[in-house]
Amino acid sequence: MHTASDTPPSVIPNTLALIGNTPLVRLAGPSEASGCDIFAKCEFANPGASVKDRAALSIVEDAEARGAIQPGGTIVEGTAGNTGIGLALVANAKGYKTIIVMPETQSREKMDTLRALGAELVLVPAAAYSNPGHFVHTSRRIAEETPNAIWANQFDNIANRRAHITGTAEEIWRQLDGRVDGFTCAAGTGGTIAGVGLGLKAKDESICIALSDPHGAALYEYYANGELKSEGSSVAEGIGQGRITANLEGAPIDTQFRISDADGMEWVTRLLAEEGLCLGLSSGINVAGAVQLGRHLGPGKRIVTILCDTGFRYLSTLYNSQWLKAKGLPIPPWLAQG
Ligand code: PMP
Repeated sequence: MHTASDTPPSVIPNTLALIGNTPLVRLAGPSEASGCDIFAKCEFANPGASVKDRAALSIVEDAEARGAIQPGGTIVEGTAGNTGIGLALVANAKGYKTIIVMPETQSREKMDTLRALGAELVLVPAAAYSNPGHFVHTSRRIAEETPNAIWANQFDNIANRRAHITGTAEEIWRQLDGRVDGFTCAAGTGGTIAGVGLGLKAKDESICIALSDPHGAALYEYYANGELKSEGSSVAEGIGQGRITANLEGAPIDTQFRISDADGMEWVTRLLAEEGLCLGLSSGINVAGAVQLGRHLGPGKRIVTILCDTGFRYLSTLYNSQWLKAKGLPIPPWLAQG
């Protein structure tokens, strides 16, 4: 039976407690394609509709615990968008302001959402990390120049990955009654892969942790050959890392896959058409990686991945035929007429 669950979740005591404890869903198509059971954490079910709500809450509560932020203070961050959305919601709930710095290449929907939530949005041209104008460096400077402000610093603040050690990994372990064989996802800050990896390995060292790296990122080569080297490019937002961030330090990566945008998009399209899930491209890349990990580990294994955010955040890109055509990506039949 494919009906809705008949056990409603219990009452949540406050809105911030809506973050985390996301459902784990079995994906039929990917399971069939790999001969394994592929499960995915529905991170689009967080209030800000992405996995980054977890890091946002953890970073803000860590700053509070250290006495680093005062009432009415400002949180400044550089982000591909989702961390900014999470921070804006957490800040509203706790009485802080947010200034969010974002590369202008990110989706229009994320910019509109940030403005709608009350964040002050600063757009900067896309630039290499070595360029002082890069969104991360710009956000650090703004934080230094703003009175009573903190810099969230999601890339090198390990309060980010802690949210996944104590939250995401613990939830996966309990949701599957400790029967997990493998986990995979892509890395932006690396908080998710490192945190879930460390958390699951602490439960059972034999769980295989695999990185699914998009083209244009340098981590595949790093974990395969010890050298940070990239090749090609990707249109996926929020993933694709070129350095070992503090969150990635000591990440227990057992194996790695390089996943193309075309392979990721195939799963984005199939999961929408066949299973009724509207997702972003990082989720598609994660699912493509989970299928590869299933084939790598062999039939009957239980693999977990992450559905990072909602496709509604990419209506002007991934779900727009003109944009897909311009990027050389396949156009699903129902978008082709548009
Ligand atoms: N997917 C999307 C859409 C994201 O915004 C992010 C965060 N940048 C990620 C995946 C990667 O998560 P993490 O930063 O934990 O590596």
